[in-house]
Amino acid sequence: MPQHVVVVGAGVIGLSSAILLQQARYTVTIVARDFPAPFETMDPLTKINYTSPWGGAHNRWVPPHPSLPATLAREHAFSLRTYTHMQNLHASHPDTAGITFLKGVEYLERPGPEHLALSTPSNPNALNLPGNFRLLEESEFPADGGRVKWGCEYDTWCVNPMVYCSFLLRRFVHRGGRVVARELRRPEEVFAMIGSELGGNDGEAVAAVVNASGTGLVPDPDMTITRGQTCLVAEDCDATVTRQNADGSWTFCVPRGFEGGTVIGGTKEVNNWDVKPSMEVRAELLKKFGETYPKILGEKGELTVVRDIVGRRPTRNGGPRVEGEVMPGAGFVMHAYGLGGRGYELSWGVAEAVVEGVEAQIRGAEARL
Ligand SMILES: Cc1cc2nc3c(=O)[nH]c(=O)nc-3n(C[C@H](O)[C@H](O)[C@H](O)COP(=O)(O)OP(=O)(O)OC[C@H]3O[C@@H](n4cnc5c(N)ncnc54)[C@H](O)[C@@H]3O)c2cc1C
Repeated sequence: MPQHVVVVGAGVIGLSSAILLQQARYTVTIVARDFPAPFETMDPLTKINYTSPWGGAHNRWVPPHPSLPATLAREHAFSLRTYTHMQNLHASHPDTAGITFLKGVEYLERPGPEHLALSTPSNPNALNLPGNFRLLEESEFPADGGRVKWGCEYDTWCVNPMVYCSFLLRRFVHRGGRVVARELRRPEEVFAMIGSELGGNDGEAVAAVVNASGTGLVPDPDMTITRGQTCLVAEDCDATVTRQNADGSWTFCVPRGFEGGTVIGGTKEVNNWDVKPSMEVRAELLKKFGETYPKILGEKGELTVVRDIVGRRPTRNGGPRVEGEVMPGAGFVMHAYGLGGRGYELSWGVAEAVVEGVEAQIRGAEARL
């Protein structure tokens, strides 16, 4: 009989992990407080701690480099795996998965060594990034007096978050996955739930729990949040554009596709818990993006605001926690939380690591019998 694995969380990490566990032939139940729903119905106050609806969400390469924390190398590997999964899903479900492939454009005012090393005269794509990576000529930079020092473009993907997450949830349930709406205090709680509470039969034991709860549900001194304020506008855009400003702030757009408009961003405010959007910040974001990529303004010459967005990126000092732990008196918990501002772009790589961790634990337990 297949072993039963319970995934706590129905954000992009829990959903991706649940689908890959299902493919690995486990019986899988998702237990979560929040599930995907139409973005238009999402309440900004009560759903503020469910991050996945409020993300961009696009893939932007964050290159590893010897001068940067080693964890970035693992994250980069996760992002490459995610890119491949997104290509496959988009090819098989172009109209329903909520994924769009388009150009990613970057303009940096203060490129770090990791960006400068990406392209050398002898090797124009030193990291072998997929998607026709190329450096931009200076003549292609925004005309703003030479503030941009480095730019590149490549083919990348964006998702409309709630279209995409709803697609993943539907796919999971269609393939026999179970879902239970429940708020938990700790991941270990699942081991005390009886089978019928988890959509199965009493007596069905839980072999492993995946902790994809965003912020962790376990004491973790490294966890915090990074507030992000963005603004959804009705205009479409032909690329996802990211600009790093010299003062460390960011100006970007993420087209959502599927009649979802375009997200203009955005702030990154560590440990700021304010749920209210600021109208001054909104005006600044729209102005800066219009200057960086005037094409989006069209003939009208201005952007049409649909909605302000405030989200809390589940940030972890030292990088995401993707590792297994045997919880005394409970059982094996595979942690997959703390994805910060990169949950979508790392999602399938993390999900593969989750399956590997669960399989190693279950095989080890079987060998000990
Ligand atoms: C403004 C903004 C822009 C962003 N842009 C991007 C981007 O361009 N690209 C990108 O990759 N990422 C982006 N992100 C980050 C991305 O949205 C997050 O990394 C991702 O959504 C985290 O997903 P998650 O599944 O880990 O957590 P969540 O989406 O928060 O899901 C957590 C799940 O756990 C459940 N849960 C939590 N606590 C409990 C409990 N006590 N009991 C039961 N269930 C519980 C929740 O109900 C939910 O189902 C952005 C985020 C913001 C805010």
